[in-house]
Amino acid sequence: MDTTLAVQQHIQQTIRQDFTDTETILTVPPGQDEGVWKYEQLRQFCLELNGLAIKLQTECTPLTCSQMTATEQWIFLCAAHKTPQGCPAIDYTRHTLDGAACLLNSNKYFPSRVSIKDSSVAKLGSVCRRVYRIFSHAYYHHRHIFDESENETYLCRRFTTFVIRYNLMSRDNLIVPIMDDASNTSNNNSVDQFSIAKNPSESAPKMIACFQDLPEGVIPD
Ligand SMILES: [Zn+2]
Ligand SMILES: [Zn+2]
Repeated sequence: MDTTLAVQQHIQQTIRQDFTDTETILTVPPGQDEGVWKYEQLRQFCLELNGLAIKLQTECTPLTCSQMTATEQWIFLCAAHKTPQGCPAIDYTRHTLDGAACLLNSNKYFPSRVSIKDSSVAKLGSVCRRVYRIFSHAYYHHRHIFDESENETYLCRRFTTFVIRYNLMSRDNLIVPIMDDASNTSNNNSVDQFSIAKNPSESAPKMIACFQDLPEGVIPD
């Protein structure tokens, strides 16, 4: 697939055929450049996440959710500012989707949709990590909206499969228990800088060892 929009069209077509068939949607066509494939999949996720954001707007406001949280344990800082800051969840959602669109449309990093430099592909992981928090906030704080959206799109399932398949996020950060198979049970021994926050025997918000100048429980961008 070497024309500019062919990959996007292919992805959107497989979604239209059966959005529950995440396997087919995520299967890279023979000969397809993998960097472009990851890039186009992520563009599509961000596009569809706007649908979830619109649903969230109906009840997620700066008054109901003054911070971007997931469970009582996690507070996320918004990276869309010169210094990451604690935006209300709905603002975080907007700022993060806008920031992702901005990066993915950037002429500097993604001048072509036919071939993509490795250094630009390397930026996709942090986009995934940030936009995933929209799923986790929806799941832990607006569960009926999450469920309704998920039933209509399978978006979180597909996203989770995608980031695992391409190693775009640490499994410890995948905190929405959406996968009903064994794929998220085998990583109990994985250690990364955030793993301490997963220890279920600790109940207070967690200090992140690598970022001790942040308030407790705050996850650095
Ligand atoms: Zn909220
Ligand atoms: Zn913000």
